[in-house]
Amino acid sequence: MQVKVLGSAAGGGFPQWNCACPNCRRLREGQLAGIPRTQAQLAWNGVAGQWTLLNASPDLRAQIEATPELWPHDGPRNSPIRDVILTSAEVDQVLGLLLLREFHSFRIYATPSIRRILTEDNSVFGVLARFAGQVCWQDIPRDQPFRAGGARLEALPLPASFPGFVSAPRLAELNPLDAVIGLLVTPESGGGTLAFLPGAPCVSAELFDRLQTCEVVLFDGTFWSDDEPSRIPGVSRTAREMGHLPISGPGGSLERLAAVQRPRKIFIHINNTNPILDEESIEYRVVRESGWEVARDGMELTL
Ligand SMILES: [Zn+2]
Repeated sequence: MQVKVLGSAAGGGFPQWNCACPNCRRLREGQLAGIPRTQAQLAWNGVAGQWTLLNASPDLRAQIEATPELWPHDGPRNSPIRDVILTSAEVDQVLGLLLLREFHSFRIYATPSIRRILTEDNSVFGVLARFAGQVCWQDIPRDQPFRAGGARLEALPLPASFPGFVSAPRLAELNPLDAVIGLLVTPESGGGTLAFLPGAPCVSAELFDRLQTCEVVLFDGTFWSDDEPSRIPGVSRTAREMGHLPISGPGGSLERLAAVQRPRKIFIHINNTNPILDEESIEYRVVRESGWEVARDGMELTL
């Protein structure tokens, strides 16, 4: 099974439209030893000729055009995209659904709470229900594996919150375990397991053990340090308070996952402020010398 990294940046992408941090500024000026990145997005082909999207990023249209395997074939209106799996209701993960509205039928897998937020509270998602059977919503079970797109999937509920746009009355009705999930993906045809954890506030002992058995771990590379987001104007929270384990420092992902040796370890969901985007930086060197890779758009993985 082929897994393609269509996008590797955190929300906003790199560079971000309204950001003039040293990374974004130097990238625009051609002074940074690094590459632009679109917002995090994965796709896999568990069934020959059919593709499953893992989330639906705001950059999805450009990501599809950059990936010939996702282009229409077999007829004037067609798409090999059959399934979309959602791991949260954040704009960064769902906005791309609105770009898939041109009378194409597909399935969306989401936790019951994510489905209710999108279909009952946000009328704009009505563009996906213009004809019977346009989109078929499937609940992701919390406590047992499920199958989609030729893969066996397992949700890993993460300690995180629902998006800030969800109303207080709605929040009171939702199960917090539905807010953000990580995902374990194993091809039904056989092969190793990929762990997808673009937003992980911590690594429990149980999660640590699961990661040891994986073939590939795509892990939260949002921030280098815990205080990095507090240097962004308007942000006062730490990385951990935002639901992201920082890469460096005591208990950071480099330290916490150092003993996880079996899988290929790749940072994804990299924020534009993160110094590892500069491939001449000390931070990038530390990450690489610690056995980690940094995801880039177009990266291809095989399970
Ligand atoms: Zn920036």
